[in-house]
Amino acid sequence: MAHPYHHAVSSARRWGGVPADYQHVHDWFDATKAHLPDFRHRALRHHAEGIFLAEDVFGVTLTNSDGRVVPVRWVGEQHVREDLGRIPTAADWLRELTPRSWMGAVAERLSETLDVRATP
Ligand SMILES: [Zn+2]
Repeated sequence: MAHPYHHAVSSARRWGGVPADYQHVHDWFDATKAHLPDFRHRALRHHAEGIFLAEDVFGVTLTNSDGRVVPVRWVGEQHVREDLGRIPTAADWLRELTPRSWMGAVAERLSETLDVRATP
């Protein structure tokens, strides 16, 4: 499993500058590893929607220390491809979840406490 630093080194080789120019983006992608320290942490940000979310967090572009403007989306795509070999969607990850009863339990309790017949 690639460390965020190694992704940052790869970014610097591709677009110039130094690894530190990209480290924050790669750290953000792998920060979810703090919640689950195996490959499943990737389900939260390693997909097309996660790449667009990175753009919302860091801006459309970053300027590296060589003065080159690099789209943040390119950096995200590089990270996800290096980890997974492709860019999946969030739906690709979610379809792999095994449904459990607790996942829908709140909706069932809500319908029990609300008198839907009284709703105009
Ligand atoms: Zn990663």
